[in-house]
Amino acid sequence: MDLFFSGGLRGLLITWLLLDVTKAATSYDGRTVKESYDYIVIGGGTSGLVVANRLSEDPKKSLLVLEHGYINDSPNTMIPRAVAKFPNLGIDFWNVTSAPLEKLQNLRTTVQMADVVGANFQDHPQMMASWNLTSGLAVPNPGTLASNATYNASAWAEYEGNRTGPYTVAWSNTAAFLPLRNFTSAAAYAAIMDAVADPGSSKRRQEDEELIALAGYRAQRAILRRHLGSPDAAAIEYPLTAGGLGTSGLNKPLSRGTITLAPSSTNSNINNTLGNISPADRAVVLAAVRWIRDLYATSPLLARYGPVELAPGLAAQTDEAMWTALVSAGLVRPSNAHPSGTCAMMPTALGGCVGADLRVHGIRRLAVVDASVMPLIPGTHSQTTVYAVAEKAADLIKARAR
Ligand SMILES: Cc1cc2nc3c(=O)[nH]c(=O)nc-3n(C[C@H](O)[C@H](O)[C@H](O)COP(=O)(O)OP(=O)(O)OC[C@H]3O[C@@H](n4cnc5c(N)ncnc54)[C@H](O)[C@@H]3O)c2cc1C
Repeated sequence: MDLFFSGGLRGLLITWLLLDVTKAATSYDGRTVKESYDYIVIGGGTSGLVVANRLSEDPKKSLLVLEHGYINDSPNTMIPRAVAKFPNLGIDFWNVTSAPLEKLQNLRTTVQMADVVGANFQDHPQMMASWNLTSGLAVPNPGTLASNATYNASAWAEYEGNRTGPYTVAWSNTAAFLPLRNFTSAAAYAAIMDAVADPGSSKRRQEDEELIALAGYRAQRAILRRHLGSPDAAAIEYPLTAGGLGTSGLNKPLSRGTITLAPSSTNSNINNTLGNISPADRAVVLAAVRWIRDLYATSPLLARYGPVELAPGLAAQTDEAMWTALVSAGLVRPSNAHPSGTCAMMPTALGGCVGADLRVHGIRRLAVVDASVMPLIPGTHSQTTVYAVAEKAADLIKARAR
């Protein structure tokens, strides 16, 4: 029997239960669970189902998918226009709340994740500057759904009746991916590259606890520094949305978190410290704000819309003032719902969890296949990469079975 773990820490806990279950045939939900299987996939998510699909191509092999089973079919997940609200609705899949994030004014966030296990926790931190567009906007425009109740009602009726209209339009499907040099002054660029070169500049909490993980982190910093210096690698993603947003996400984050057991908590057993933003990430955020501010101030195309800066606001001119304005308004967030990296494919000496064959170090028949095996978060949204990892994993697993 081979176990494939794509369901996170809780998946790991279920793994042990499952070993018991497989000792004897038993009935669950009207179906019989057999005594043993060739493959057991724990977690039927993005990667788990790809692996299960590929492994089940061989009719001679038996396979069990064990899925926690959370299904959310609310309008906020099903309707393109509404989906951007989803992460902010307070839906709590796993009852996992972050520890207070020191550098974000002790913000506590719901952690939207199912697939993370330990150290090396990474996500794409987000900055959300914004502008009010005061003139020249066509009507309807992207804000009309919110500002005009009559228009909103007719758009909703159209969606309910025909599944057409404004509610089928996603919030954004265009983005600029900008290398560091393209949005920084010479001085800011040099300062960021210096900060990345110096491991001491990022005082992560876990440096005290896990020196072995620090070795891996140092290796990552060297790679990230190369990426940040390259004209071919994007340091930020700047989504191009109509309506005055100046959001950007960090594609090459230096910040790291940890998922740990929290024995003091009665209803949650996981704690995370992502969001204790590293100084280099903070500098990238601030450079992005300055660049987008400059774009709104100087672009003739944008000038026709009369943009007025809302956040951080023109009163904030120094780095410190801009950072304080954004953080105190909750406009720097540690996550873009792309949690990755906590069971990283790295050598044990670097704090890694699985090898190149995706087997957990030291365990022959347990593999991990999900976003957690990526040692460095990819410089893009995670889903397509997860699909690629799962396809590759299926090939590896099939080859082992031959
Ligand atoms: C709100 C939100 C919006 C996103 N938007 C985008 C986007 O626009 N573009 C993009 O590229 N990416 C997006 N992502 C990220 C992307 O969805 C994830 O990176 C990807 O789905 C992760 O795949 P995975 O296989 O690692 O984990 P998952 O798909 O999360 O699969 C893990 C599975 O394990 C199951 N599980 C957990 N514990 C157990 C257990 N104990 N027993 C059994 N089953 C268990 C879970 O129920 C889940 O089905 C978004 C994520 C979120 C949360």
